Amino acid sequence: MTTLVPALKSSRFVKPTLDTPYHIDFEWWNKADRDLRVYLKSHLCEAHRELYSDASANDAIDWIDTQTAEVKPIDGILYQLRVHCSQQPDYITEFTSVVDAVFRVFLVNDNQLLSVRQLGERIGKDPELILRTISGKTVYKGLRPSAEVGG
Ligand SMILES: [Zn+2]
Repeated sequence: MTTLVPALKSSRFVKPTLDTPYHIDFEWWNKADRDLRVYLKSHLCEAHRELYSDASANDAIDWIDTQTAEVKPIDGILYQLRVHCSQQPDYITEFTSVVDAVFRVFLVNDNQLLSVRQLGERIGKDPELILRTISGKTVYKGLRPSAEVGG
């Protein structure tokens, strides 16, 4: 692996830093017709993964935002992830990949913007490593800087 090749400068692409806010770009999932639910299932705890193994129904559940008291429907899988699976000790471990761990943080924080530095604190990994992983040209699982508008 070499780091000697300078990054190509592009007028549209601003190189992310440790303080660049990131989030999950759900548009990325929609555009490419990728199956978000299949990926969501992989983050469930073992018991819920079994429960949802043949469930193809789109079971929306009313989610009450604890801050605004606003009620909005969310996917049943996402609901279980928030109320149960993310509370399990093995939700994010040292063996969880950087991409999966970052994705899991955004799943439960309602996709609120977090800088790479903040993500490092949440998942217990080196922010530089996270930045190298998610700031490249390849977008992993829709993880993108929020400032990158349009395209
Ligand atoms: Zn669970």
